[in-house]
Amino acid sequence: MKKHYDAIIVGGGAAGLMCAWQAGLLGQRVVVLERSKKIGRKILMSGGGRCNFTNLYVEPENFVCPNPHFVKSALSQYTAWDFIGSVQAHGIAYHERDHGQLFCDDKARDIVNMLRSECDSVDVDIVLQCNIDEIKHDAINQSYAIRTNQGTVTSNAVVMATGGLSIPYMDPTPFGYEIAKQFSLNVLPVRASLVPYTFTGQLKDMFARLSGNAVPAEIKAGRNSFREALLFTHRGLSGPVVLQISNYWQQSDPIHIDLLPDVAMSDFLHNAKRDQPKNLARTVIAQLMPKSMVLEFETLWWPDFQDRPLADWSNAQIERVGNLFNNWEIVPAGTEGYRTAEVTLGGVDTDELSSKTMEAKNQQGLYFIGEVVDVTGHLGGFNFQWAWSSAYACAHSLAT
Ligand SMILES: Cc1cc2nc3c(=O)[nH]c(=O)nc-3n(C[C@H](O)[C@H](O)[C@H](O)COP(=O)(O)OP(=O)(O)OC[C@H]3O[C@@H](n4cnc5c(N)ncnc54)[C@H](O)[C@@H]3O)c2cc1C
Repeated sequence: MKKHYDAIIVGGGAAGLMCAWQAGLLGQRVVVLERSKKIGRKILMSGGGRCNFTNLYVEPENFVCPNPHFVKSALSQYTAWDFIGSVQAHGIAYHERDHGQLFCDDKARDIVNMLRSECDSVDVDIVLQCNIDEIKHDAINQSYAIRTNQGTVTSNAVVMATGGLSIPYMDPTPFGYEIAKQFSLNVLPVRASLVPYTFTGQLKDMFARLSGNAVPAEIKAGRNSFREALLFTHRGLSGPVVLQISNYWQQSDPIHIDLLPDVAMSDFLHNAKRDQPKNLARTVIAQLMPKSMVLEFETLWWPDFQDRPLADWSNAQIERVGNLFNNWEIVPAGTEGYRTAEVTLGGVDTDELSSKTMEAKNQQGLYFIGEVVDVTGHLGGFNFQWAWSSAYACAHSLAT
């Protein structure tokens, strides 16, 4: 490690490596300080080992941020197609899955190797196992001094790319938030997101019995809704639809689940009563979903009518059960937390940063990029796109 650089990037994950590469391309002498033994560890574990590196349909609406306009500038400076261009230039084979999600054909390591070789090609220094003791700012010289276990390094620009708090065994740190506070930037409360729900009591037992079953479903929380696969687990509910809605859910809020979003269940049951009055509800509903699920809902919702033919069902009873299938209100006990969460919601307040450059408005030369910022993408490659785009915007500012 040299003693002075044009820019010091703290964190060798998706955003930090991208920023280093792009700043290096623009002639900046850059160092990446990474506290763990390896770079890009979250990339390696992402997308089930195949890294969902971006999405074909990136829109500002795919990001959760109190300031909905904040993401626009960075996303337009560096688009999904820019990243796809690099992936293609490196000969990395990829494929599209549902909803425009792009994954490597082979392994996520291809993306880390690409970032590493691009950083090498522009002489980025990467320092591993680097523990930072403090970051000091010299207001007179407008420079920063970072004291580490491997010596002190100075620069006029520091980029915090320290990510969020998910996956505790990777030893994530709140260092980015602490530095923001040290320089008087507001940090919004953080919580685990893109995360499964947990339940207690009767629902937990029921979901455990159904674990492994998946159905297409729609879930609403407040004014937001998603329609994707719902998965029953030993501790509660998961699957893409649950992860998506978790971005919009607050502890103690109810969620509304439509277990059969293509079927108006009251109408279906009224018709079944008319056409097959001798049938049991479970028999007709089993045409629409796995029988194991129907049996569980039967015990939960119409235990007294389990063995009564539809002819015995009142209109009110049909409406009640139909409405439960299409609009089942339940309150999760909580989430699986950072242990399994894909992202951290909250973080450095976007009001404190320039949306064009990611530089702190009131602290020249201090930048925040990637997940440490209070921008959270939907599931589907949007979080990596935010890392690439925010890093690129920052890199261009470093070079001016
Ligand atoms: C299991 C899982 C799967 C995921 N799959 C996807 C996916 O397929 N698609 C998608 O878009 N997103 C996915 N994500 C989210 C995505 O990984 C993150 O949003 C993205 O990595 C954020 O990039 P980042 O550079 O901001 O943070 P990170 O990639 O987390 O990098 C932060 C880096 O900073 C380092 N660091 C932290 N503190 C310090 C410190 N004090 N000093 C020095 N270094 C430090 C860390 O060691 C780390 O290397 C997934 C996340 C998880 C957990």
